[in-house]
Amino acid sequence: MLSRKAFHITPSPTLSIDAQAKRMKSEGKDIIGFGAGEPDFDTPAHIKEAAIKAIKENFTRYTPASGIPELKEAISEKIYKESSLTYKPEQIVVSNGAKHSLNNVLAALLNDGDEVIIPSPYWVSYPELVKLNGGTPVIVDTKQEYNYKLKGPELEKNLSPRTKALILNSPSNPTGQVYTRNELEVIASLAVRYNFYIISDEVYEKLVYDGKEHITIASLGEDIQNLTIIVNGVSKTYAMTGWRIGYTASEPELAAAMSGIQSHTTSNPNSIAQKAACAALSGPQECVEEMRKEFEKRKNYMVDLIKEIPLINCIDPKGAFYLFLNIAETFNKKFRGIPVESGNKFASLLLEHYLVALVPGEAFGAPDYVRVSYATSMENISSGLERINSFLRELI
Ligand SMILES: *Cc1c(COP(=O)(O)O)cnc(C)c1O
Repeated sequence: MLSRKAFHITPSPTLSIDAQAKRMKSEGKDIIGFGAGEPDFDTPAHIKEAAIKAIKENFTRYTPASGIPELKEAISEKIYKESSLTYKPEQIVVSNGAKHSLNNVLAALLNDGDEVIIPSPYWVSYPELVKLNGGTPVIVDTKQEYNYKLKGPELEKNLSPRTKALILNSPSNPTGQVYTRNELEVIASLAVRYNFYIISDEVYEKLVYDGKEHITIASLGEDIQNLTIIVNGVSKTYAMTGWRIGYTASEPELAAAMSGIQSHTTSNPNSIAQKAACAALSGPQECVEEMRKEFEKRKNYMVDLIKEIPLINCIDPKGAFYLFLNIAETFNKKFRGIPVESGNKFASLLLEHYLVALVPGEAFGAPDYVRVSYATSMENISSGLERINSFLRELI
């Protein structure tokens, strides 16, 4: 008999749609994948070279559990340079990807029954990670007309004496929204007033568009810095999803607790990947801007095309690499006699009949939506949207 914890966990649906699309592809089907949750670019050459060098120099043994000093210093420096925030190396914990960092944070913070506020639409893993660590997710719905942002009154209404933390994700997966300084100030002042943590997932910080800027909530004052855990990593910024390097920056006591947890669970993240991450953070940054520009171009192209397609709409996102399509208007229609009725049904009909893979919104707590990723070529974007258009024109 499985544990109660394990029993209530649903496997990551974004990964499973991707797996299904990959399987169909391997069967020779001409699938267009909008399911990707990772950049389609290759890891930049100088980063790969640093890893090769690490192997050749036999940098292949255990490292300190929470990461090598060189990498912690590179992270501290990066944060100081970009946000003028000071973190000593012992306040940095390097883990096996930002997802692992999130798990460490929750393991170190939560007692059974502690509540964690999660604005919806949310990244699929947040509620599951909270539950795995004994906490209770408190889902707070946001609205498309407010660009899916959590407003002060909604947040305040959902606070309780058991509120331990809020998970904030800006730029957001799946909606692409980016919080402004003013919006963050409202949230920060509530966190300070009611004394709860902000777990700030900033993995898309470098992928912002239309002249917007990413601001970390930790930079809004000393009080909020002490309550914020910055969660970040190299996966999305440097096209390094497979390398598995993420990190946190937090107050020292929490960092020490996470480091202790990690020392007994996974030990250090991969030694070679840590060297690669050093090269990523300390090396030339032009590659980041090149990838960002390409994403921006695709985003604009896609948003323009979608305006011409019936029955679906989306906000023009300001960050990450997803469009979150509102498909509610299709739910009272039928495809060849089959009712569409849900995001799941929409996604499976589209995959089966038009060979386009996307992720149903149910996974993000938003059943009226599907997520399409533009981490794919312009060519795929254009023919994929054509297929979606044909699919929608068949609905009656
Ligand atoms: C991809 C992603 C992560 C996890 O990134 P890794 O560093 O690869 O574990 C965390 N949060 C969000 C919102 C993501 O989209």
